Amino acid sequence: MVLLALFLAGNFNDANAQSKPEVRLVLQITIDGLRADLIDRYENGFGEGGFRYLLKKGAVYTNAHYQHANTETIVGHTTLATGTFPSQHGMVGNVWFDREAGELAYNIEDPDSPIIATRKNETKGEQVDPAQKKSRTQGRSPAVILVPTVGDGLAAYYGGRSKIFGVSGKDRSAVSMAGHAGKAFWYSTNTGDFVTSTYYYDAYPDWAAQWNSRRQAEGYAGKSWTLLNDASTYLLAAQDNRSYEVDLKGYGRVFPHPFGQVDDKLFCTRILVSPVGDQLLLDFSKALMTHEQLGQDEIPDYLSISFSGVDAVNHFFGPSSLENEDVIVQLDRTLADLLAFIDKTIGLKHTLVVLSADHGMADMPEYMTELGYQAGRLDPNDIVAKANIIGKKFGVGEIVRFFYRPYLYLDDEKIAAAKIDPTKVEQALADALTDDDGIALAVATSRLSSQQTNPLVAWVRNNHHVTRSGDIYIIQDPYWFLFDKGPVAAMHGSPWRYDTHVPIIFMGLGMKPQTVDRRVHPVDVAPTIAALLGMTPPGSAQGSPLEEVFK
Ligand SMILES: [Zn+2]
Repeated sequence: MVLLALFLAGNFNDANAQSKPEVRLVLQITIDGLRADLIDRYENGFGEGGFRYLLKKGAVYTNAHYQHANTETIVGHTTLATGTFPSQHGMVGNVWFDREAGELAYNIEDPDSPIIATRKNETKGEQVDPAQKKSRTQGRSPAVILVPTVGDGLAAYYGGRSKIFGVSGKDRSAVSMAGHAGKAFWYSTNTGDFVTSTYYYDAYPDWAAQWNSRRQAEGYAGKSWTLLNDASTYLLAAQDNRSYEVDLKGYGRVFPHPFGQVDDKLFCTRILVSPVGDQLLLDFSKALMTHEQLGQDEIPDYLSISFSGVDAVNHFFGPSSLENEDVIVQLDRTLADLLAFIDKTIGLKHTLVVLSADHGMADMPEYMTELGYQAGRLDPNDIVAKANIIGKKFGVGEIVRFFYRPYLYLDDEKIAAAKIDPTKVEQALADALTDDDGIALAVATSRLSSQQTNPLVAWVRNNHHVTRSGDIYIIQDPYWFLFDKGPVAAMHGSPWRYDTHVPIIFMGLGMKPQTVDRRVHPVDVAPTIAALLGMTPPGSAQGSPLEEVFK
């Protein structure tokens, strides 16, 4: 077999045919919350083997924007994986209101697929992720993702022989990318272990159990997150101590940030809100690649690694903080380590590397106001109160059944009982809310098909799934904060450019290094991966292969 392969390869060379290196691994890197301009902003702090290497060797798309309105983690990841919009893949938000159950649903929760415990006695950490807090059960699976992913396509094409994995600091970022056919592992903020659910396994594979048994996160007890380089070398050296940054109960607003002790309920979360979470994810990924033998035969394998540190740091300190600069500079070293490991074990020439992000990030309203642009924080209770006042004018008491941004869900039964035209009351509500300070546009989703002109409406339409989306979509003004009050200080989730602008980089397989400035979209990523492998795009994909990577 080996001899035959060599003979064939030799023949190709003799014939001077343009032979492309064999693809052994598709490595899809997603950096949660990496707004595209942050790579340029911090380039001076980068070493040679990470971002700089990708920028130098890859096809770099500088003008890639999401086309859905709710730029959140599960929405972006699933779009990257499937090549289609939330209107098709169904992941319209990190959280949506389950009208039938009458309660909020956390995107990938699945009571039938409980997480497999890694320890006998697990203490529960304090949950600060506002979306995770809404989950009703501890089960996780991709069952609610309505369409196939590129990994699913790979599984089908190679008769199930392709190994497909998704790993991340966050459950939703691992599960969405692993698709229905792959296997997922993610970081637990209870234990610092990497966990999975019964959807994927009956028990942990030996290598994963061994990795977890080393309890590497606990090695950081009593230690702190410190700057990688001398403080004076940072562009944002002066942006460390700002009153609107969040102190995670002792983590502080300024360097060094102490992780605390293992029995502290926020210990494992603080690890994730630092460069260490990404470093642990890399170490776990190396164990996975080694023991699952990824990229070691002629059948291409797929590994998605979604790094969560940048996003976590953004939420607490903002994207224009010293913490943001350092977490990205340290991630650069982690990426360099990852690429060097793959080059040694598989060969970068046999690896298709794809890098993107699930969304960008907004600077905090207080920061923008300091700079002269007026922005503020919206209170969800005010929005509900105003909507209920309008409802009363139509003879409906408490017309809002539920509000979880961006969607306002109305009480259909009360509207029907009042015998009024629902589209009329929805439009009246949307018009009234649009008049409010800090709200750019409220869109009655029943009118989506008739509102053709406004680009904002097009993005809301791409986000609209008939059973999961709400009745009114609320878009805040640029830099206005629309979220629950809580520990999170900075957000993404709007259709504004700072939230939609993400990097897209393809590298490997003899691809020509180049910078492409035309507008492209993350829905193009999955069809491009499929085309590079000679496969048909994922079933519901609406994007197109990016032509430059084939030149
Ligand atoms: Zn995210």
